[in-house]
Order: sequence, then C-alpha cells, then structure tokens
Amino acid sequence: MHELTLAEIARGLADKSFSSEELTGALLARVKQIDPQINSFISVTEELALGQARAADARRAVGETGALLGAPIAHKDLFCTLGVRTSCGSKMLDNFKAPYDATVVAKLAEAGMVTLGKTNMDEFAMGSANESSHYGAVKNPWNLEHVPGGSSGGSAAAVAARLLPATTGTDTGGSIRQPAALTNLTGLKPTYGRVSRWGMIAYASSLDQGGPLARTAEDCALLLQGMAGFDTKDSTSIDEPVPDYSATLNGSLQGLRIGLPKEYFGAGLDPRIAELVQASVKELEKLGAVVKEISLPNMQHAIPAYYVIAPAEASSNLSRFDGVRFGYRCEEPKDLTDLYKRSRGEGFGAEVQRRIMVGTYALSAGYYDAYYVKAQQIRRLIKNDFMAAFNEVDLILGPTTPNPAWKLGAKSSDPVAAYLEDVYTITANLAGLPGLSMPAGFVDGLPVGVQLLAPYFQEGRLLNVAHRYQQVTDWHTRAPNGF
Ligand code: GLN
Repeated sequence: MHELTLAEIARGLADKSFSSEELTGALLARVKQIDPQINSFISVTEELALGQARAADARRAVGETGALLGAPIAHKDLFCTLGVRTSCGSKMLDNFKAPYDATVVAKLAEAGMVTLGKTNMDEFAMGSANESSHYGAVKNPWNLEHVPGGSSGGSAAAVAARLLPATTGTDTGGSIRQPAALTNLTGLKPTYGRVSRWGMIAYASSLDQGGPLARTAEDCALLLQGMAGFDTKDSTSIDEPVPDYSATLNGSLQGLRIGLPKEYFGAGLDPRIAELVQASVKELEKLGAVVKEISLPNMQHAIPAYYVIAPAEASSNLSRFDGVRFGYRCEEPKDLTDLYKRSRGEGFGAEVQRRIMVGTYALSAGYYDAYYVKAQQIRRLIKNDFMAAFNEVDLILGPTTPNPAWKLGAKSSDPVAAYLEDVYTITANLAGLPGLSMPAGFVDGLPVGVQLLAPYFQEGRLLNVAHRYQQVTDWHTRAPNGF
C-alpha cells in the first residue's frame, strides 16, 4: 500500500478496496520500520492518526466523499498542531506543544486527512541540507551518505522513501523545491499569499509560503486544493478564488511560450544538470511548447539580497523566543539578562545564531540604509525583471539546483557554499511568484529537478505543464533502492 500515490489512495478509499484505518496502520508500521534509516520524522502521532482514520471511515460510511478524506499526511514541524510538539527543529521549542492548529493543518484535517506525524527540518527552516536540526540530520533515501536538501528535508525524504504519498513543507528561499529536486519529488511553492501562514512558525514573514510535496503533479494539485485559500487570520493572505487545480491538469501545451533565462545556464551549473534540463525542454517542445531565451539581468544580486532580508526578518521574528514566553529556559538564571542570554545561547543552534546576528546588524541604525534598504531595492529590481519576462513568455524554465545532493557534512563548515545552492530558487520568493520543481533525470544515481516559474496565481499552469511532462516521462515513478 505504501507505493500508492494520493490519487490512487483516493480511488482505493472511494471504491472500498481498503479503509483509512487499514491504510493508516500499514503506513505507521512502515514509518516505524524504515524511518530510523533516514530520520525524517521528529514525532509520530500514532493515536491521533488512528483516531482521525476511524473518523474518516465513519464519514465515508455515511456517504461523504472527497479526495483527501482518509488519506495520510505529515506536516513539517513548523506547522502548529494542537497538543502535539511543534519543535521547528530546535532545542528552543523541544518542549513546545502548540495550543492551536495552523490554518493549513486545520483545513487538511477538515478535508479528512490523517496526520501521521511531524517531519524533520532544518532549525527554524534555515538551511539547504537538513543538517542543522536539533533532532539530527535527515538522510537522502537515494544515497544515505547524502543530504536530502532543506529545510523541508524530512518532508521530502519521507515521501521519497515511500513512507507516505505527500507532505507539507514551507519555502522561504527554496525549501520545498530544492529538497524535492534532490529526492526526485514534485514540490510546489505557491504565490505569496495563496496559502495561509497562520500557525506557521515564522522565519522570514515576507518570503515564507507553505505548499505540497508529493511524487506527482497530480498529487500536488490535490493537496494544494486543500491548503489554498483566503484566511482572515493572515493579513497577507490574498482573497482570490481558488481554481480547481485537478480540472486543468490535462490542458494542451500547444503554443505555450517557455522562457529559458540565459543567466540560469552560466558558470556554477553542473553541465550534466544543464543537459537534463535541455532534454526536458525538448519533451515540452514535443508537446507543443515554444521556447525562447530570455534574460533576468539582476539575478546575480539575488543571493546577497536574500541573505540580508531573510536574516533581518528572522532576527525580528525570533526575538519572541526569550526564555520567558515560549520553549527553552536556561537553568537557574542569575538575573533577567542572564536568563535571556543563556536561554537563547543554549536554545538556538549555530546557524540560527549566525542569522540573528547578521540580521540584527543589517537592521541596526547605522547600517539599515546600506544593507536592508539596499536589499529591498534589489528585490524590486528582481521583481521587475520577472514582470518584463512574463510579458514575453508564459512560463520560465531552468534547473532547480546547480548541483545534485552533496555528501552529509560536505558544506556544513562553509555556510556561504550552502547559500550558493539556493541561486535558482530564491528569486521566486523575493518576487512572491509561484514555482514548482519536477523530477527530470539522474546524475551519478542522484535525482535532478527542473524548476518552472509562472506569473502570480498561475499554480494551475505549473501543475498542468508538470503533469503533461509526467505523462510522457517516467523519472517521477522511480524509487530509491531499498525503499
Ligand atoms: N536555504 C535557504 C535558507 O537557508 C532557504 C530556506 C527556506 O526556504 N526555508 O534561508
């Protein structure tokens, strides 16, 4: 049963081939058996899951239907879950049980999804390798000596290892798309404001966005349908109708204009990845797409701008973790200053402390204009580049990452080397655009992803193109050995 996609599970539950309770029991057993190899879960919520499964079966028994009713899910451990530890991958929140459900969690539970647990992640979603978690690194099922990508590495590894068909993740600078690419999954970062951030522990509020990770575009469509929508509790949520994403999956690609930014194919890109990206373009051309070269001239400034803006927002958001109101508190503080200092010094890991220091510096009175304001100006230029490009093309295509998954530990002592891995993904966050990564081949046995970017609220177009591509390729169907 663990090989079924979300769409197949929906059919199996509808035609009563199995019950949600049977499915849930089988998957929980598999999580227990397999997860110690990859460390993708922080918490397994067995009782909650079995209760939700029985409730879903009861709803079906009285005639209720719905693609997600009784289907399994696991949430990145930064989505607040009522009464369940929500750690954000940090010692700081190791003892934190959320007093409410995040909107995404509540919506999916209402649709009848069964929560198997909470997935491992980089501490406070900072990272591209999932090595900074307080709960230990996550391993890539495609090669256990390699990283799965981050920060939603647990969400990605769990799906790649066939522990469950789909998970939630969040993407501040690539954390859905990058781990999806490195583990052979389809991952979608929606338009900023499409999915409510309420109850998502904030990293960089103007960039954070929740979205689905699954094996297929078809499954991402089902999950996004359950996640998306206006939420009065999130002031940046946007009141736009949610289209039927599954209904447009099969749309024709005839005449679709795809832009290849020349800046995406320059130095730094593994030439074997460049070849696979070009091969994916050929497939899309066969389906009717027309391709042209475009330019995103300010892309070279994206990493420096992002690594000022994201830490600046993080330094502000993480000030709430002070040893008083949430989570970890040091032993026997001498006075209030000692309490703050030691609670934060002991509760936060090295990468989080580094970001807080960089961000605090960038926001300080003497440097605010030189760093933060400058970075925001660059952000506008990057957005303008995309607006100009989308006057000429319907979709932008390129690699998701410059390299395949690297070895555990290979970049952990060099933060800048890890930051450079985000070069293709962070621009979508700076501009607020939707982006999707889809499987497109292998290099040395490790998966490679192709990234598609679309105009605001065109998630349906991304899913349509990825779905059509997945009907003529089989990369997304390949499973790692031993899983
Ligand atoms: N790697 C990027 C960072 O560390 C993006 C992380 C994310 O998207 N959450 O900030």
